[in-house]
Amino acid sequence: MNFQDYAIATIGSHTALQILKGAKQEGFKTICVCQRGRERVYESYKVADEIILFDDLKAEYDEIEKQLIEKNAIMIPHGTFVSVLGHEKVSETKAMYYGSKDILEWESDRTMERKWLKDAGLKLPKIFENHKDIDRPVIIKFHGAHGGKGYFIANTPAEFEERIKDYEGDDDYVIQEYIVGVPLYAHYFYSPVNDELEIMSFDKRYESNADSIGRIAAKDQIEVGIQTSYTITGNIPLVVRESLLPYFFELGDGVVDASRKITPKGLFGSFCLEGIVDTNLNYYVFEISARIVAGTNPFINGSPYTDLRYDEPMSTGRRIARDIKEGIEQNKLDLIID
Ligand code: ATP
Repeated sequence: MNFQDYAIATIGSHTALQILKGAKQEGFKTICVCQRGRERVYESYKVADEIILFDDLKAEYDEIEKQLIEKNAIMIPHGTFVSVLGHEKVSETKAMYYGSKDILEWESDRTMERKWLKDAGLKLPKIFENHKDIDRPVIIKFHGAHGGKGYFIANTPAEFEERIKDYEGDDDYVIQEYIVGVPLYAHYFYSPVNDELEIMSFDKRYESNADSIGRIAAKDQIEVGIQTSYTITGNIPLVVRESLLPYFFELGDGVVDASRKITPKGLFGSFCLEGIVDTNLNYYVFEISARIVAGTNPFINGSPYTDLRYDEPMSTGRRIARDIKEGIEQNKLDLIID
């Protein structure tokens, strides 16, 4: 089959603009599966050849999926797709899916994720199983707390006990060492079609109110009783010092190699390491996203790194479409479709 016989589909949210735009740049038909009322964005930016509307994605997904199969569409998952459907439902989807479904379980289970990242040779912040052992700054993260809202910091067991009172009944949290340094998100792309790992871009997040607390004096912060939160509002592009690049390539290789030991196909496509660089340039990774992340959105027209490698604007969305196109042309689609 010719690649033009396929369509590329995604859910209208998160990174859909660049996924659809990138697919069009590569010559694919595009389908935006969009919540009713949100279609204006995808119409305005003219990225979707077709829009399929829904009111409740989870309830209507089986029906929508039939249409996707009829249209020979490949679904590109992103954060919204996985968080709305849940990884179990995603594993059961039948339309062509770009990415490894097996990896979703590893990514969504904290213990499994940690094992994978440790096997990959990454440095991870320490986890405190018992709050009585807190002997350094820690960040308390609630599972499912969207975008870091409600996270809090403690320095001692007593401080923890005092602050956790506000969250009575919610015991789904992790106590993690707070790494003092700068947040940095590294966006990778690994293609099994050409067996190559690329660094696409880096970003840092713009979080409310963590990114503006420094705008008022410490004295006022205390008097007003500000509680830090990490509500994501946007992404800021970054370049890293060039001497860090070999290290970042090694980290990416480690993650891909380790993923092959945990699932047959391993990790491929777009993925992101999320962590903090301390003053000794150690990178502590607190999370991996095994798919396209919103931090790649500033680079719809390419990043400084993709500019070095490609003679044309190459977003992560477009890189995904290119991978699919090459997979079709080289008869290797089975490597990248689950
Ligand atoms: P997700 O990426 O799943 O949406 P989230 O936004 O809920 O996750 P995290 O990304 O884990 O939460 O953390 C939110 C923010 O808290 C980070 O961007 C970072 O600024 C800060 N942070 C998280 N973990 C640490 C840590 N161990 N040390 C220092 N800062 C941290």
